[in-house]
Amino acid sequence: MTLALARKWRPKNFAELVGQEHVVRAISNALTQNRLHHAYLLTGTRGVGKTTLARIIAKALNCETGVSATPCGKCTACVEIDAGRFVDLIELDAASNTQVDNMRELLESALYAPTSGRFKVYIIDEVHMLSRSAFNAMLKTLEEPPAHVKFILATTDPQKIPVTVLSRCLQFNLKQIPLTQIRGQLENVLGKEGVAFDVPALNLLARAAEGSMRDALSLLDQAIAHGAGKVGEASVREMLGAVDRGYLFSILDALCRRDGPALIAEADRMAARSLSLETALQELATLLHRVALAQTIPEALAEDEPERDTVIALGRKLNAEDVQLLYQIAIHGRRDLGLAPDEFAGFTMTLMRMLAFVPVEPGGKVAASPAPARPAANPAVTRAVDPPRAMESQPRVEQTATRPAADAHPIDAELSDWRNLVGRIKVGGMARMLADNCEFRALQGDNLDLVVPEAHKHLLEKAYTDKLQTALGDYFGRKLRVRISTGGSGQTPAEIENQERQAKLAKAIESIDADPFVRDLVENFDARVKDTSIKPVQ
Ligand SMILES: [Zn+2]
Repeated sequence: MTLALARKWRPKNFAELVGQEHVVRAISNALTQNRLHHAYLLTGTRGVGKTTLARIIAKALNCETGVSATPCGKCTACVEIDAGRFVDLIELDAASNTQVDNMRELLESALYAPTSGRFKVYIIDEVHMLSRSAFNAMLKTLEEPPAHVKFILATTDPQKIPVTVLSRCLQFNLKQIPLTQIRGQLENVLGKEGVAFDVPALNLLARAAEGSMRDALSLLDQAIAHGAGKVGEASVREMLGAVDRGYLFSILDALCRRDGPALIAEADRMAARSLSLETALQELATLLHRVALAQTIPEALAEDEPERDTVIALGRKLNAEDVQLLYQIAIHGRRDLGLAPDEFAGFTMTLMRMLAFVPVEPGGKVAASPAPARPAANPAVTRAVDPPRAMESQPRVEQTATRPAADAHPIDAELSDWRNLVGRIKVGGMARMLADNCEFRALQGDNLDLVVPEAHKHLLEKAYTDKLQTALGDYFGRKLRVRISTGGSGQTPAEIENQERQAKLAKAIESIDADPFVRDLVENFDARVKDTSIKPVQ
């Protein structure tokens, strides 16, 4: 392969141009209907095909078979434009200003009729780099363009172009090319080049190209050279300096199994490969974010996400709350890495914290605090307080709730499980805080009596009470009058949650102390596990 792929596979007509269908359609229509503008501005990030598109337009305008959206590619004009030696196509790169210095001269030549083509086409790349005087010279020509002159301007930064120039151009914005389309094109090219490849390798290359087809093809060139003729995942990873993300899955897998030794072994392997452990924590947080997304808004996961299936599978294995927790621990761990005695210690400490907080069984649902985003989505998630016992302790409920529930919600049972109820009603902000700090006392007719501990008396604002009353009324589909007094046993949702958090913390400390691999670590590193460093982050 002597010719670089990016050059060899540069699209030569509109049909070959990948990822810019909207622009291609508009320009094709204009060409077909002979509605020609004298100046076009193509905008978009680097490598999305601006100058390629400009050259195709130049061919469409000058093809000897006539102006059309399908230049023949065979006539002298087409061939010469492809080869970059068509006398009436003047290409300038405003970024290298040697030619731009004599912009005025160049533009003066625009007055003369084309030598061999139909139109004199000026392609000015990175046009925003032109000096003010160069813009002024161009503006003159744009104001009174000779009929045989076409300007095709391209830029990554249209903001820097004077409005006077902008207003005289027909503007097209080229998009970043989606990962799937880049991958598809790489596959296409490799097929035609007869080069073996595996799909994960192409995903890596396409992702690294960040929307630029030119970059993707240059990377592919390198990958072919690097892999000695084959484009394989391992060699592409090595070439890109990309970490094998497999370790991320090993870590999460070990966490799910609560397998401490496997976790530390993975950390060892990573350290042995001199991976950046800070980057690892960042990638771990990124992955957890994807997992959370898969659990709550699966449609937000891109179809072309390379590890989509794995991410979705993880979403099923871990419960939503644990994912949130692990995410928090990962980002805090990364933040604190600079404070750790060394990177490895900081990293393993973070893993230990994670270990302390994942459920005992894989996918096991630990008694969790309410997840308000998806109330009762999973019947397996039960509250710490189960209704029968709660009712036992509140015998008055049955007597006072006289009205038969006409709606779907058995009101007395639900009220007695106040904590659960608070997770279901639509109430936020301070009113939610008030609800969290209340206990249910009694329901008498439409009068709903709640109590709030003395310590949280400040929450007793009419506005919050009103909001809570509305939310409860909406939930039960009946009018309720909420009356709140101070007192109570202190077993408010907020307090129960606090106790659970403390219990979880105690369990975390205990499990860290008890874990044999942590003990090993303590011996090997002569380290001490600080209780205050273990926090259930919520
Ligand atoms: Zn032609």
